[in-house]
Amino acid sequence: MIYLDHAATTPVHPEVAAVVQDVMSNCFGNPSTLHAIGREARGLLDKARQQVADLICARPEEIFFTSGGTEADFLALWGVVSSRKGRGSHIITSSIEHHAVLNNCAYLAELFDCRVTYLPVDGAGMVDPDDVRRAIERETALISIMHANNEVGTIEPVEEIAAIAREEGIPFHVDAVQTVGHLPIDVNRLGVDLLSLSGHKFYGPKGVGALYVRQGTPFTAVLRGGGQERGYRSGTENIPGIAGLGQAADIARRDLEEETQRLQRLRDALIQGIEERIPGARLNGHRTRRLPHNVNFSFPDVEGESLVLGLDLQGIAVSSGSACSSGTGEPSHVLRSLGLPESYLNGAVRMTLGRANTEEDIPVVIEALEGLVRKLGRLFSA
Ligand SMILES: *Cc1c(COP(=O)(O)O)cnc(C)c1O
Repeated sequence: MIYLDHAATTPVHPEVAAVVQDVMSNCFGNPSTLHAIGREARGLLDKARQQVADLICARPEEIFFTSGGTEADFLALWGVVSSRKGRGSHIITSSIEHHAVLNNCAYLAELFDCRVTYLPVDGAGMVDPDDVRRAIERETALISIMHANNEVGTIEPVEEIAAIAREEGIPFHVDAVQTVGHLPIDVNRLGVDLLSLSGHKFYGPKGVGALYVRQGTPFTAVLRGGGQERGYRSGTENIPGIAGLGQAADIARRDLEEETQRLQRLRDALIQGIEERIPGARLNGHRTRRLPHNVNFSFPDVEGESLVLGLDLQGIAVSSGSACSSGTGEPSHVLRSLGLPESYLNGAVRMTLGRANTEEDIPVVIEALEGLVRKLGRLFSA
């Protein structure tokens, strides 16, 4: 099996699995209790918070554990908008965000007196910072733009947007689920106020993530209860998952530079091979401002879903569009926003590299893809 779907989820790193197993078997304490068993759990929680903080150059008091990226995104949006307590709100986001942001923005607009501006992107998937500036209103409560897109891999100009947000005194949230553990991140250099991350996108466990909230950012909790996570997110903590997330953060920090360079080489070889061998192949997303592990191509007049199934039969796992929007038959909202010609909209395949891949995989994938595109293209044009 050649696994090329690391943007959907990553295999758990063996060192992470060992930590989760060890904690689950040997440390059942509740970190809110005072005795030795509880203090041991508290120690693990503190350690993981420091590890995650170190990965994004934050302070541990600014890290709040959640059940993953979706909850972190929701918590950021809800936390800031609901803190306005009845005053009208306005959110600025982009049309290519993950559904965890898009659908929750729409939900907040239903619940509160809240309007949402969805900024367009250019043909490469880039948000224009000037568009952000122009969209700002008196009631703008939050700007939420993703760090890198999960489908086409485009890296957004978050530093520039952060500078604008700061000038206007508007909190800025970044969904960094696709970049944490894959690109170096310093929340202060980026200038963001809230940032979402998810364990299973960088070799950690599923169902655990975190929201970074800069001290002083207006924020109201969603879940109320025992006041865990300094009141930002009640509920007895998932200690094995959180310890695993901490371990994944440590590994990412240790290996990031070398692994990023390795993946970039594989990515570029795959892109080059496809462009040389498959006529009509069109690279989606930005050619240089691109996640080191993302390859996304459209092939005219070929169904992306057919390519996914055909490759699967040959032991190669890829995605058409994003995992969440595939299977619906609708072209993804991201590809639509890029303004692809109609004939390319349904023929997109996303291949995302990771630790599981080696140089030997590249020619195998190109060969299989070339054969399928030729076969399916003939079928469709016949
Ligand atoms: C995967 C993903 C999410 C959702 O994270 P979960 O942990 O699966 O809930 C949010 N945003 C982006 C960009 C993602 O890639």
